[in-house]
Amino acid sequence: RERTGTEERPGRPPLTVLAGPTAVGKGTVAAYIREHYPEVRLSVSATTRAPRPGEIEGKHYYFVSDEGFDRMLAADELLEWATVHNKYRYGTPRGPAVEAAARGELMLLEIDLQGARQVRASMPEARLVFLAPPSWDELVNRLVGRGTEDAEERARRLETAKVELAAADEFDEIIVNDEVPRAAARLVDIMRGEASSAAVE
Ligand code: 5GP
Repeated sequence: RERTGTEERPGRPPLTVLAGPTAVGKGTVAAYIREHYPEVRLSVSATTRAPRPGEIEGKHYYFVSDEGFDRMLAADELLEWATVHNKYRYGTPRGPAVEAAARGELMLLEIDLQGARQVRASMPEARLVFLAPPSWDELVNRLVGRGTEDAEERARRLETAKVELAAADEFDEIIVNDEVPRAAARLVDIMRGEASSAAVE
């Protein structure tokens, strides 16, 4: 395979993790990157939840049964995994992530905080990026505005979000998601190893 040499550049991480509280817009930033930065590979997670309208098997997720997820765990096929919002299990397939890292590709994992901590433990060279809301009120607005959860589920997610916001200082970088194109550009800069820590908001 052709190698560009750029993967040796200091500061360029083998994998980048994007995490952050519920409704902060991780999915939106990831979707923007998928559309505008074809050189970035997005890890496709396995999940036990059902597909939402428009979600494509193998593109957005691998949709698996509980038994299928158990089999992946038993075969040690997941780099990290977590039960998210006390409901469904989600995990990152190990093979594609490790191979992309070895090839020096730009690989992005959009996962939750528990998963981010596991990646940190098993792959200390990975870069952890925290996507933060402009403010708490804005986070609440976004969660209510997207209308995908009922009141009880929203309350539960906001409780989790409070705890998760406090974890921001465990991360290498913090990006405030005020405008999606700007947040995405900043994330890709970090992935390329081009971001200076002085530019952190
Ligand atoms: P959703 O069901 O809305 O697509 O995702 C719910 C949450 O699961 C999000 O916070 C997302 O970051 C997280 N998530 C998605 N894939 C993974 C994964 O592979 N591992 C972990 N730990 N979390 C994930």
